[in-house]
This record gives sequence, structure tokens and C-alpha cells, in this order.
Amino acid sequence: MTFDSRQVSPLRPSSQKIVSTTNGNTTPVIGEGSLTLTDTLNLDSILVVPSLNYNLLSVSQITATLSCIVIFWPEFCVFKDIQTRQMIGCALMADGSEGEKKKSKIWLWHRRLGHASFGYLKKLFPSLFAKSDISGFRCDICELAKSHHASFPLILNKSPSPFMVMHSDVWGPSKVPTLSGSRWFVTFIDDCTRMTWLCLMKTKDEVNLLFKKFHKMIETQYNAKVRVLRSDNGGEYQSSDLQKYLEEHGIIHHTCSNTP
Ligand SMILES: [Zn+2]
Repeated sequence: MTFDSRQVSPLRPSSQKIVSTTNGNTTPVIGEGSLTLTDTLNLDSILVVPSLNYNLLSVSQITATLSCIVIFWPEFCVFKDIQTRQMIGCALMADGSEGEKKKSKIWLWHRRLGHASFGYLKKLFPSLFAKSDISGFRCDICELAKSHHASFPLILNKSPSPFMVMHSDVWGPSKVPTLSGSRWFVTFIDDCTRMTWLCLMKTKDEVNLLFKKFHKMIETQYNAKVRVLRSDNGGEYQSSDLQKYLEEHGIIHHTCSNTP
């Protein structure tokens, strides 16, 4: 089994779709192929399993397929033809238990440092990474915790000219009042330009008066007409006084609840 599909050729679909790992999980097989290790060692039916950290060789399978025996020494192993006892291959231990210790230390530091990136850990502890490449480390917690929400799509149906549509909302009460005693504010946001006016209030019912003032200011300063006021269903926008004012000035009131 290999994690790297470039090591096999040709890559073809495999009848085996998953393999089980020692922790009981299953992981997908994306294909299979052949691999030539040496002139005398050619392996067929290599499964490509991208989630593996190492390439794995089944000793029982290789002895059956190649009619060979495998002898292990502490630091190396040899492959011999079963009939001739001629050596057909050998392998040296590359990254044994020492490598595993370093790997578990890297994971320990990853968790100790609040899931620091492996690239950063490699700078801090270069000796731990002597043989391990950072691409071999994949942390599920990091991937889940650092993923982002899908963003709102960019909406292009903005008003064509300033002040046609004004958005308004009220916020408060704040725990701490301002020096002038205000604990609320109301915003007026122009849909076209996103220009925002923010007015402080001592009570919520000042919205009525503040909108009238704001509306007059727009007319005088910018010679513009407000056509639509858009707000939530908040009571401060439902006062009969404000409703009457909007009607008199031909302003349509859009209300939308639970919508950002
Ligand atoms: Zn992590």
C-alpha cells in the first residue's frame, strides 16, 4: 500500500474500495497499480491509500506472490528466493522507533502550543523534523476549528443613487451609559454608498424624531429624496407618529425580521 499514486503505473481502479486501520477506522483506496522496487523485485496490485503516513508492505503477501522468504535482523531484512536461496532484495531500517518517538513529540508540542502549525513547529524544533516532512501531519481538530463559515454572496442589486433606500436599526441598551446619559443608538445606512449615520439616544422612542431630523437634513444638504426606509419589526419603527410621517412624505416602509 502506498500513499502516493505517482509511485504506481498504470493507475487503475481497484476492486477493493476501503482498508481498515488498526484504530478500527476505514480509509478509502483510490486505485491500484504496479511498482518496480529493484530489477528483481516487482510488485503488482499495490493499493493507493492517500491517508497513509508510510508505505506498507505485507510480508505474507510478498512471500506468496514472489515465492520468497523474508528474514529480519534488528537493523535490516533480506528477501531470498525460496528455491535458490539467492538474495533478491534487502531493506535497511530507515526511521524506526526513534522516528516514532520524534513524531509523537511533534504531536505533543502541537497540542501544548495550542495547535501551532507544523511549519512553525519545524522552525522551533528543527531536530525533531530531521526526517519527517510536515506534509505528513494532518490534525483533524485544526481542520475543523480553523475552517471558516461560508461568506454571504456579494449582492449587486444596490440602489442606483444615494438616499433612495435607507436602512435603519436600533441597538441597546448598553450596560454603561455615555457621559451624556445615552444607552441606545440608531443607525441610518445609505444602501447605495453604505455611508452610515449614527445617533445616540437616551430612550428608544427618540427614533421617531431622529428620523424626521435626518430626513430633513438629507433634503436640505443633498437635495435628495428618501424613497424607502428599511428596518426590522421593532416597536420603535411602528409608532403611529412615524408611520404617519412616512406616509405624508411618500416614503415606503419595508420591514424584514430576522434578516441581516
Ligand atoms: Zn491541531
